[in-house]
Amino acid sequence: MAVNPSAIVIHVQRGQEGAAASDSPRTRKGVAILGATGSIGTSALRVLARQADRFTPVALTAHANVDALAAQVARWRPAFVGLVRGVVPRGSNWSSGAECLIAAATRDDVDIVLNAVVGAAGLPATLAALRAGKRVALANKETLVVAGSIVTALAAAHGGSLVPVDSEHSAILQCLAGRESHEVKRLVLTASGGPFRTWSADRIATATLADALKHPTWQMGSKITIDSATLANKALEVIEAHHLFGVPYDRIDVVVHPQSIIHSFVEFVDGSVLAQMGVPSMELPILFALTWPERVADNGVPQFDPVTLGTLTFEAVRTFDFPMLALGITAGQSGGSASAVYNAANEVAVEHFLAGRIMFGEIPLHVESALVALREMSGESLDALLAADAAARHHVNAQVGL
Ligand code: NAD
Ligand code: MG
Repeated sequence: MAVNPSAIVIHVQRGQEGAAASDSPRTRKGVAILGATGSIGTSALRVLARQADRFTPVALTAHANVDALAAQVARWRPAFVGLVRGVVPRGSNWSSGAECLIAAATRDDVDIVLNAVVGAAGLPATLAALRAGKRVALANKETLVVAGSIVTALAAAHGGSLVPVDSEHSAILQCLAGRESHEVKRLVLTASGGPFRTWSADRIATATLADALKHPTWQMGSKITIDSATLANKALEVIEAHHLFGVPYDRIDVVVHPQSIIHSFVEFVDGSVLAQMGVPSMELPILFALTWPERVADNGVPQFDPVTLGTLTFEAVRTFDFPMLALGITAGQSGGSASAVYNAANEVAVEHFLAGRIMFGEIPLHVESALVALREMSGESLDALLAADAAARHHVNAQVGL
């Protein structure tokens, strides 16, 4: 099957826009950070502190952590503050409710929307930002897993752009570097393998929450950390890569690379393979998503020293022992509503695991059950995808007895 010529680096074409301070009528680009209090959000604010001559955070939102958000507001004095749940501080002009994400994402003073919300809850803001022609620096991979085709079509239609923050996709974007789609043979996403890379299947099935939260190479929010332990995260990333770069699923592979130094590879048709490397830190892909296609100097990203990094190793994925990977890729390949169902069922199963209601080994069972039960659901419109998402949540909750 041919690589989709219209899609590789589609939404990320060189020269559409520049993020340099100098070509804006305002001197600095305004950034909205959705999910400012999370792992990506706080890393982004560290990047913005170093790049204060280019960018300024004009809108910050959080889910329910009022204290963390208030501390950020005191430091940054953004024009807009949104809190999705909870009571806004007395006397403040903060917005509240889920709509605050859309309000933040579509403001006139916002040039770039960093979507660092976790889960399908990030989708409406991505859609609204793209409709408003913004650049979306996308950490919220679930956006593309639920509604990839709709999202990429919107980016193309309204002059907005979608630039990945996920380290693997940032690596691929950097390796592609404007190459034509017919020159690309294959994308290879690297996976750390998570905390259970060397565990037996029996031991994995009864792993505790503390075991699953011990990620070997990355410090992240709890949902993506559990997704990394099941390898659901890698399935979400394969689907994300398919939509971002327009590469068919049979040309996207995954390899385990425990050191997380090579963030992904691109193999070209002449046999050449390019990799992007760096010490694991999300600050580099966040910065690149803000400045792409430019590179700017930054003294906060850890220094790369190959000698101290030592040996880099690679292994095949133990697909049989980590069923969430194949379940997710198959869902992506099936099209329709399957990847939305996979994502929603996984979100709910992970919540139940985090709350101690189900065992680690039950996560794939619930997701597979939802995929089978809801296989006839349509995915032909946004409403249909949202209905599939809701049905999958309901299905898993009912299975768990809620
Ligand atoms: P996190 O849990 O640390 O932070 C999530 C943020 O989103 C918080 O600010 C929270 O207040 C907000 N939020 C949570 N639920 C929300 C909701 N329903 N509505 C609005 N806001 C909500 O998560 P994270 O690790 O920063 O991950 C954020 C996103 O970035 C996820 O999609 C994740 O897959 C992706 N990502 C994260 C990393 C990483 O290193 N942390 C790397 C690649 C991709
Ligand atoms: Mg990643």
